[in-house]
Amino acid sequence: MIGRAWLWAAQKPAVERIVRNSALTRPVVDRFVAGSDAEAAIQVIKELNGRGIGGILDLLGEGVTDPTGADEAAASYLRLVKRIDETRVDTTVSVKLTQLGLAIDKGACIDHLRRLCAEAQVAGTAIEVDMEQSSYVDDTLDVFSTLVADFPDLRLAVQACLRRTPIDLERLAHLKPRIRLVKGAYAEPREIALQRRAEIDAQFRFLTGWLFRHGTHPAIATHDHHLISHARLVAERLQVPDDAWEVQMLYGIRRDLQAALARRGVKVRVYVPFGSAWYPYLMRRIAERPANLWFFLRALAGR
Ligand SMILES: Cc1cc2nc3c(=O)[nH]c(=O)nc-3n(C[C@H](O)[C@H](O)[C@H](O)COP(=O)(O)OP(=O)(O)OC[C@H]3O[C@@H](n4cnc5c(N)ncnc54)[C@H](O)[C@@H]3O)c2cc1C
Repeated sequence: MIGRAWLWAAQKPAVERIVRNSALTRPVVDRFVAGSDAEAAIQVIKELNGRGIGGILDLLGEGVTDPTGADEAAASYLRLVKRIDETRVDTTVSVKLTQLGLAIDKGACIDHLRRLCAEAQVAGTAIEVDMEQSSYVDDTLDVFSTLVADFPDLRLAVQACLRRTPIDLERLAHLKPRIRLVKGAYAEPREIALQRRAEIDAQFRFLTGWLFRHGTHPAIATHDHHLISHARLVAERLQVPDDAWEVQMLYGIRRDLQAALARRGVKVRVYVPFGSAWYPYLMRRIAERPANLWFFLRALAGR
């Protein structure tokens, strides 16, 4: 509830202005964001790789409302893929479709993503598509379904909180899709999304089982150790080898668990966001945990 109220308040331009202009919030930004440019983020990926952990690079940005902005984002992503090729780091690349203009021109967005997938294939990496607010789910599924036949490595995030997700996955079952399963980071109404933690966790468990049975190389993206233990049990029961699924976590969260899992032979990838458009991403991370919110408000007040 506190988180939903915070996400609502965070959309107000006045709140954004205060947060962006305050140097006091910098330590909180630095906890969750790997740096302002690709080189800083690649350095973080190198460190992760050195500890046996893979990366997922994310150039921050979303909700682009003009074609030039989408073109620029696509060009930046292509440069990023080139750097991955040059540096040979073990990382995938994650992208939000509204950053590639989904909200203004779906055809152009598909073209951008197609080119990106093709370049990623050449560079030996893969593209992951984030899932955004529920109003974009239909279009996101459409784009994914259009491209996945040509690019079978393409991965799609789905949200366990959405009531529709089991049906969406059934519709994709014939593709044996590569899915990243997340709880869901957006405030959604109860008609659309489960609200209680216990219900979301139950659906997450159900979908974990579904993905191990019907998907390809499932990515269980959570810091919730109960859900990770559940995934490990399912993998064991279905005799899925360690290299045929993975756990994904976010930069700056549960580093201890990331390291412990990697040591035990679980494949781990860490989502490493970078860039200057950090505001909405940071607000979602703060909303996820009341303790973050109080810490952040104290930082903002300079205390
Ligand atoms: C790799 C990855 C990719 C994601 N991609 C998407 C996406 O495409 N679309 C989408 O809607 N959501 C995405 N998410 C976010 C996700 O939906 C959740 O909002 C987020 O992961 C928090 O939920 P949780 O599963 O970790 O469980 P929670 O129950 O929220 O957290 C479990 C534990 O993790 C720790 N923790 C969790 N969040 C925080 C935090 N912000 N700060 C400090 N500690 C924390 C705490 O110890 C907490 O007790 C992604 C998450 C990950 C890990």
